[in-house]
Amino acid sequence: GSGHSLLRDPRHNKGLSFTEKERDAHYLRGLLPPVVLSQDLQLTISLKPVHLPQEKRLLQNVQQFEVPLQRYMALMDLQERNERLFYKLLIDNVEELLPVVYTPTVGEACQKYGSIFRRPQGLYISLKEKGRILEVLRNWPEKSIQVIVVTDGERILGLGDLGCQCLPITIDVGTNNEDLLKDEFYIGLKQRRATGQEYSELLDEFMTAVRQNYGQKVLVQFEDFANHNAFTLLEKYRANHLVFNDDIQGTSAVVLAGLIAALKSVGGTLADHTFLFFGAGEAGTGIAELVALEISRQGKVSVEEARQKIWLVDSKGLIVASRNETLQPFKKRYAHEHEPVKDLLDAVKAIRPTALIGSAGVGRSFTKEVIEAMSSINERPIILALSNPTSQSECTAEEAYTWSQGRAIFGSGSPFDPVKYNDKLFVPAQANNAYIFPGFGLGVVISGAVRVTDDMVLAAAEGLAFQVTPEHIDRGLIYPPFSIIRKISANIAACVAAKAYDLGLASQLPRPKDLVKYAESCMYSPVYRSYR
Ligand code: NAP
Ligand code: MN
Repeated sequence: GSGHSLLRDPRHNKGLSFTEKERDAHYLRGLLPPVVLSQDLQLTISLKPVHLPQEKRLLQNVQQFEVPLQRYMALMDLQERNERLFYKLLIDNVEELLPVVYTPTVGEACQKYGSIFRRPQGLYISLKEKGRILEVLRNWPEKSIQVIVVTDGERILGLGDLGCQCLPITIDVGTNNEDLLKDEFYIGLKQRRATGQEYSELLDEFMTAVRQNYGQKVLVQFEDFANHNAFTLLEKYRANHLVFNDDIQGTSAVVLAGLIAALKSVGGTLADHTFLFFGAGEAGTGIAELVALEISRQGKVSVEEARQKIWLVDSKGLIVASRNETLQPFKKRYAHEHEPVKDLLDAVKAIRPTALIGSAGVGRSFTKEVIEAMSSINERPIILALSNPTSQSECTAEEAYTWSQGRAIFGSGSPFDPVKYNDKLFVPAQANNAYIFPGFGLGVVISGAVRVTDDMVLAAAEGLAFQVTPEHIDRGLIYPPFSIIRKISANIAACVAAKAYDLGLASQLPRPKDLVKYAESCMYSPVYRSYR
């Protein structure tokens, strides 16, 4: 292609980093100013306010905006211009930039997606494409695909139905969001959601087309489906396809890891603890199931027995045996004998949990009374406010530390700044599946795993938990810092891959000797390629 189009192709563009020889070989002469910069210098310029036009770019460019959504858009601009520079910037500054490209800001970006939409990213498969999904997949330029992230947009973060908003593959079956149906800038199908047979046929066609086009070993990660579809789709496809539901399985792994780490300071084994979940959907019951499985694997009790110490609250109150007839199947296992309890505070007082885990998507539901009750029952209450984005968080970090008089072990789905309480600095953990899904996917890919099993999810949890050091624990942290996410992910990938090999589910043979090193060598690198 011409040099002009090369500069406009974000996958290949290097901007001022094109070398003299590349400028000759690829018809770039005259299309760029004469200076040649290294990628590091492109970044450095952005980090220090020097008087060059490039200063306007990158981190400085991002930081100059006060409004988070503008920061998000500045980053998306960079991604559209020069993908490798974007990823290098992100990797080098992940702690600062994660809240912009991920929760909470991405939530706002999803809500306003129609108004900030510039260029399509990824694929959109709507009901209009029914019967032609294979053709759609063939329009995507990349032929060797290893992981697909797919959503139908019905439960984005804790923000509900955002229709056709998330990428790279959006299955658009309509939206029930009244605001979007009325919004002239909405980019999705303006009709109510298809359900039942029409929905499941489209999903079936999608799964089949994916396999036909990319083969058996592409991992399909389901993301932000509403729970009435999420559990069904996972059950339906997990036996014969390579699928992973991030909201059920990824969340369960990250939270189990955090609980294992927390016990290092609280004491006792998982079997000694009592868990109360506020929210009994994908996240809540997903975590509950993995915790029960881990307890049984630790050899103390059966899964059924382990479930006895796990309680869940949904929108109708504590899940108890007398509600059995009207409960969805995934809740029934937790319908223990108990009198009905309506509200969370009463449930805390009745169940006396050692750990309280919020995943109802209802902001501010861990009130002062709830946290004080947890703190009167426990010396070190474990309190996880998992709901995203920040507006839906069950409580803030400051509230958790203040109301527990600095005794809570706290983690939240969206990030909170460190809190000073009684002259001590508390660093809240970010309990988010972002710790798991990159490493999990990598582990599946490098082992050529043909199926995802619960044992592989457990392996991911253990792989994260063992990276929490005594120093982290001392500081009240239940996860290693996100700044080393690539190292964390390599270790998780190695654990997941090792489990796949042990279970005979790996197809990538022979098994590499050092899986951590191998995982590192397979990771995406944002360093520029040489076009010679
Ligand atoms: P979901 O499947 O829709 O489940 C929501 C659950 O909350 C349901 O059981 C629902 O009750 C319950 N609920 C709703 N309103 C309630 C109320 N007022 N009182 C008590 N319970 C109530 O959603 P999900 O996938 O589990 O996600 C829920 C939240 O968790 C979201 O905010 C999401 O962002 C967050 N999340 C965080 C992470 C992370 O990594 N930190 C991962 C996944 C999800 P019914 O069953 O009665 O309807
Ligand atoms: Mn999700």
